[in-house]
Amino acid sequence: MINLRVGQGLDIHPLVSGRACILGGVNIPSEIGPAGHSDADALLHAIIDAILGAAGLGDIGGMFPDTESAWKGASSLELLRLAWGKTASLGWRIMNVDCCLLLERPKIAPYVPAMKSNIAGILGLDPDAVGIKATTAEKLGFVGRGEGVFASASALLYRE
Ligand code: MG
Repeated sequence: MINLRVGQGLDIHPLVSGRACILGGVNIPSEIGPAGHSDADALLHAIIDAILGAAGLGDIGGMFPDTESAWKGASSLELLRLAWGKTASLGWRIMNVDCCLLLERPKIAPYVPAMKSNIAGILGLDPDAVGIKATTAEKLGFVGRGEGVFASASALLYRE
């Protein structure tokens, strides 16, 4: 009997000038980037929450509190590695993750293969088991005005 669990995660960060634009662990050339306590990689944060949610392990804020200086400026690739390590140690394996990024700019399509490779490498997945789609918000709302980035992710875990 295989125990299947689905999880979902959402994240939002402001996009401001003078911040590196790191999404999916890829440093994308851009004048604006997500602001936050860590590197503010909204895509990886959404994936972490999807995984933790599926495994019943709470959320990213509980595992990596933004009141802790250890996580200030932290690479979210490292946070994903730690979150997945904890999850896998409980016997969970992962089938796939699927994500959406909403942002007006910069364009991320050229960087999607590198993002998939980063995420797949940490989770032990084939890159084709990591879906990353990106869309704009057609100029509507905070995303449409280019003020922020919104990420969502789903993850499917299983345990024998
Ligand atoms: Mg976040």
